[in-house]
Amino acid sequence: MKSYDVIVIGGGMMGTASAYYLTQEGMKVCLIERDDIAFGTVSHTDGYIGASEKEPGVDSMQGMASMKLYDEMRKTFDYDFEYSTNENGDPIGFVYFCESEFEMEMAKKQVAENQKLGIEQYMVSVQELRELEPNCATDLLGGMWVPKDAAVCPFKVPFAFVQEARKTGLLDVMTRTEVVDIIQDPNTKAVQGVVTDKGETINAPNIVNACGCWAPFIGAMVGMEIPIEPRFGQLTITEKAGKITQNRLCMEYGYFLTKFFHDGEGERPIPDLVKAYNVCLNITSDLTGNTVIGGCRLFRGFSIKSEYKIMQACAMRGIRFFPMVKDLNCIRAFGGIRPFCLDQLPIVSDVEEVPGFFMAAGHEGDGITLGPITGKLISQYVTGKPLEFELAHEIAWSRFKNKDIAALKAKEEANTRALQEIERKILARL
Ligand SMILES: Cc1cc2nc3c(=O)[nH]c(=O)nc-3n(C[C@H](O)[C@H](O)[C@H](O)COP(=O)(O)OP(=O)(O)OC[C@H]3O[C@@H](n4cnc5c(N)ncnc54)[C@H](O)[C@@H]3O)c2cc1C
Repeated sequence: MKSYDVIVIGGGMMGTASAYYLTQEGMKVCLIERDDIAFGTVSHTDGYIGASEKEPGVDSMQGMASMKLYDEMRKTFDYDFEYSTNENGDPIGFVYFCESEFEMEMAKKQVAENQKLGIEQYMVSVQELRELEPNCATDLLGGMWVPKDAAVCPFKVPFAFVQEARKTGLLDVMTRTEVVDIIQDPNTKAVQGVVTDKGETINAPNIVNACGCWAPFIGAMVGMEIPIEPRFGQLTITEKAGKITQNRLCMEYGYFLTKFFHDGEGERPIPDLVKAYNVCLNITSDLTGNTVIGGCRLFRGFSIKSEYKIMQACAMRGIRFFPMVKDLNCIRAFGGIRPFCLDQLPIVSDVEEVPGFFMAAGHEGDGITLGPITGKLISQYVTGKPLEFELAHEIAWSRFKNKDIAALKAKEEANTRALQEIERKILARL
């Protein structure tokens, strides 16, 4: 029977990052993935990384901590995961566009709060916006500029982690292998190993649940109710047309209003189809010359089927902020599901009631950014070393001890129903 120090379940961003940092601590690791490396959400996504696309506080601080690790990785890893830089070798930066006074006010508050936390983030005039992004619309009110944010090729990062971890000789990878059960000591509840769909038992005193949207199924194997739901997003790809954006990811400020349910606080000046599908613009021309245009946030279960009308709504947003998009052909679209934790923070920690069990899931739209800091924290939890992130307790599983998960679920269901009702009413009159 095979035995390891740690079994990591899930070969996506969190699983491979955890496996990498654990091997750096001398741990013998078995990474188990039911499909192949990077087959889950991590290959249905954009590649933005940074501190700004988050709520100021623990959320943006995690981003900052992870960016430091990305900076080390890009300098030390042999595997090129396409970290985007400018001609000086610095991160390419990130731009947000504001199209209403309300968004300008929200943006100013966010800049002030993030600056206090040490994040470089500035308000910029429309002239400055156009110096950064010459093809953007001329009638915007201004925006935010975040020089230290960057982008990567998202599905290459897990392969980079695996390749670097393998150099230690401490990593075994089992793909096309599903974990179907977890073995626990009947008295202490401590984990002892996993059972796979091949009927094999693999032993380890430590198990990491890095299964993204599917983490609740793994949690249920050890009696946990994990409040993570799939939140659908969709991206449209255009034909090659060179630089619509300057190879950086750009976003409309309305992104924050859809991501964090701030919608009631200020009406976005958007067409009905955009509202119906809760669409907000993120756009990037990648190094190949294709432009990727997204996205939406919807609760649709586990389906990742893309929808034509969402493509239309994304294209409308693209044209609004980059008029040149009007002349581009779309060549494909794809959908993905974000692991949305109902209190809007990831779960990264040990689990007191199940000794040896660790959580690394629930990163919603931030998992590409947060992979490195999550993996590093998991390695510190498993080895018992001091935690490198001072706000780690705020993203720990223990925060749910005093929370009513049923109430969180009811709130999320009400939100979903409200969004579905908006969608239904708008589509009925279009
Ligand atoms: C449209 C879209 C755009 C996004 N844009 C960004 C962005 O720009 N920046 C950013 O930071 N984030 C972004 N995200 C979010 C990011 O992609 C996710 O947060 C991240 O991919 C989650 O990684 P993960 O490792 O938790 O999950 P996954 O990548 O889904 O990995 C989980 C793995 O677990 C495996 N698994 C499940 N059950 C089992 C089992 N029983 N046994 C074995 N294996 C199992 C699955 O097969 C899967 O491979 C975006 C997401 C979407 C959908």
